[in-house]
Amino acid sequence: MRTDRTQVGIVGAGPAGLTLARLLELEGVETVVLEDRSRDYVEHRIRAGVLEQRSADLLVDAGVGARLQREGIVHRGIELQFDGERHRIPLSELTGGRTIVIYGQTEVVKDLIAARLESGLPLLFEVEDVSVHELDSARPTIRFRRDGAEVALVCDMIAGCDGFHGVCRPSIPSGVLSSFSREYPFGWLGILAEVAPSSDELVYVHHERGFALLSLRSPQLSRLYLQCAPDENLDEWPDDRVWAELQQRAGMEGWTLAEGPILEKGVTGMRSFVVEPMQYGRLFLAGDAAHIVPATGAKGLNLAIADVRLLAEALTSWYRTGSETLLDAYSANCLRRVWRAEHFSWWMTSMLHRLPGGDPFDLKLQLSQLRYVVTSHVAAASLAENYVGLEL
Ligand SMILES: Cc1cc2nc3c(=O)[nH]c(=O)nc-3n(C[C@H](O)[C@H](O)[C@H](O)COP(=O)(O)OP(=O)(O)OC[C@H]3O[C@@H](n4cnc5c(N)ncnc54)[C@H](O)[C@@H]3O)c2cc1C
Repeated sequence: MRTDRTQVGIVGAGPAGLTLARLLELEGVETVVLEDRSRDYVEHRIRAGVLEQRSADLLVDAGVGARLQREGIVHRGIELQFDGERHRIPLSELTGGRTIVIYGQTEVVKDLIAARLESGLPLLFEVEDVSVHELDSARPTIRFRRDGAEVALVCDMIAGCDGFHGVCRPSIPSGVLSSFSREYPFGWLGILAEVAPSSDELVYVHHERGFALLSLRSPQLSRLYLQCAPDENLDEWPDDRVWAELQQRAGMEGWTLAEGPILEKGVTGMRSFVVEPMQYGRLFLAGDAAHIVPATGAKGLNLAIADVRLLAEALTSWYRTGSETLLDAYSANCLRRVWRAEHFSWWMTSMLHRLPGGDPFDLKLQLSQLRYVVTSHVAAASLAENYVGLEL
């Protein structure tokens, strides 16, 4: 087995791992990023698309935001639709001018990969059999195979940025982590369609047939979702049926949803999940490796970026001064934001989805809550503050 050496070994080249690598590069900290998928796969995995202003600012400040600034679409509000009417929540007006930016996660990842490769720094795709060892020692090690060769990468610290299904979290000895979770009895059927968005802002639809969301990725690409069963069979959803259902749920008098070729179709389950603490020895978890939110609040990608901002600061401080104060505080500092986002995402999800079983009392509560949010300045401001991202 060959032995290599780096300062911070990063497992996973999703938004968390790539952003962390970039932030550490700017601070002169050496990293190796390991990814078990191909570059093409990672760059085309359709996922999130809403950046809080703070996330967008971080990417710009890190020198990877030029295209984001050119192509990202700034939104200053969202719409809530229920009882056949739309109501605008003016996010910026309610939050002292803050905004969200529509820019696909695929594009964030492409920009970060391009910058990493331009810097000539190690980013290894299609590595196999990744495992992490000696986590509570001063020399934690990542083992993997690449082009048939076995490698032991000896690190000072390991960042587990390998998503919900990665290897880092399960490598922490049992009894160390507490986990908290909730499964929702529904999922989202999402499509990417080659058609200009029919609405200027995101529209969250509460409907008796189920939730729908009208979103976008660019002026030419619509991203649209339908509430479905968590194990919905896509074979039963030919394109015509998807469009008919979207028209039924989102249609309004005098307004129709423009249709176009469907480029991608998939089903995503809805889950809330958190582990505490987000650290064991010299392994630090970040992003989906440590927590999952249902997508309704658009928080997953933003939480991943917020985690690694703190992790980069803590690691940099440790290398500069030898102080472990920020590293020790990393988990607690992240978890404050994580739990706020968990609550907000659960709240949005519970308010907007048709609850299986169809209890009429629940339905009346949802409609009352929606009516309150769109008529009370305080309630709307609370939604807006959470949606654009809290300063924590
Ligand atoms: C299908 C889907 C749709 C989503 N849609 C939305 C949305 O609309 N809005 C929203 O806000 N959020 C959404 N999310 C959530 C959001 O995309 C995530 O929160 C975000 O990707 C988290 O980034 P991450 O870097 O922590 O994890 P990931 O993006 O999961 O990255 C982890 C990386 O680690 C790699 N990896 C895994 N195991 C290993 C291993 N053993 N060795 C090496 N590498 C490994 C993976 O291939 C991946 O590249 C969605 C998530 C999914 C799964």
